[in-house]
Amino acid sequence: LIAFLLYLFYLVAPIGQLVQGFTQVQNGLAAVKRIREIEELPGEETTVAVHRVGRTPAGVVFEKVAFRYGDDRPVIHDGVSFEVPAGGLTALVGPSGAGKSTVFALLERFYDHQGGTIAVDGRDIRDWPLAELRACLGYVEQDAPVLDGTLRENLVFAAPDAAEDDIARVLTRTRLEDLVARLPEGLDTRVGHRGIMLSGGERQRVAIARALLRSPRLLLLDEATSQLDAVNELRLREVVAEVAKETTVLVIAHRLSTVTGADRIVVMEAGRVRAVGTHEELLADDTLYRELAATQFLLPA
Ligand code: ADP
Ligand code: MG
Repeated sequence: LIAFLLYLFYLVAPIGQLVQGFTQVQNGLAAVKRIREIEELPGEETTVAVHRVGRTPAGVVFEKVAFRYGDDRPVIHDGVSFEVPAGGLTALVGPSGAGKSTVFALLERFYDHQGGTIAVDGRDIRDWPLAELRACLGYVEQDAPVLDGTLRENLVFAAPDAAEDDIARVLTRTRLEDLVARLPEGLDTRVGHRGIMLSGGERQRVAIARALLRSPRLLLLDEATSQLDAVNELRLREVVAEVAKETTVLVIAHRLSTVTGADRIVVMEAGRVRAVGTHEELLADDTLYRELAATQFLLPA
């Protein structure tokens, strides 16, 4: 009997430690919880076989989309149409309240649009199994938090089966190798509010690395508005440009350095798309864009 009890203890003790560790990791991990909730919405498959190799970039088409939150006034006005071709960098710009973040929320199906069609990779998003759609998208929310845990935990929580190779590759792509080298325990250093604080630029790149570990076919990046020093600004620009070579990147841009590097820019205003073009074309043709470039984008770095 004693042997049996000892055996039970042997079984239970590590689980207890695990649970305790997990609880610690969970502290302050509101974002994790949210993502779990999103991934486990009732009636949807909770697991999707994500084939990480050979995931081709996915394009987006908004066709006469209309949307309102609740019974409120329309947020996306009737007839919003634009295209994000597969591959490359498309920037979404416009004044605060224009509807940029709502475009992302509709793509993720946090809300369902009421009119028109949204297609990802040529397929109506209402025809995609929800979990499959979300496995296809990488979403970096504005001011994405660094969670209270190790850097490794921060990277892999949405991709628990990520191999060391995958982590190393993503660290290179997001220019985080220097950070890892500088941290006392490398990837196993505790970061976040009870660990080592990361700079705004590092936090943003950690959030991008986290999304990239899931090999998205379309990366949605809601750029932080916080100001970056020149080095971090340059790094972010390099990272976004590099990722856009491998997948589709749709970025809500707040920085001149991001829009000048974009293949095309969609200008939104009050729930409508008012212009599409390159930075040079829009500077020449669109008064609102010129105004944004002069005020919003040209804030000192
Ligand atoms: P942007 O990202 O361009 O600043 P948003 O898409 O966040 O604009 O918001 C567009 C409009 O929708 C704003 O008027 C905003 O107040 C409103 N809005 C955003 N989110 C919600 C929500 N969850 N419920 C109700 N209204 C919202
Ligand atoms: Mg927004």
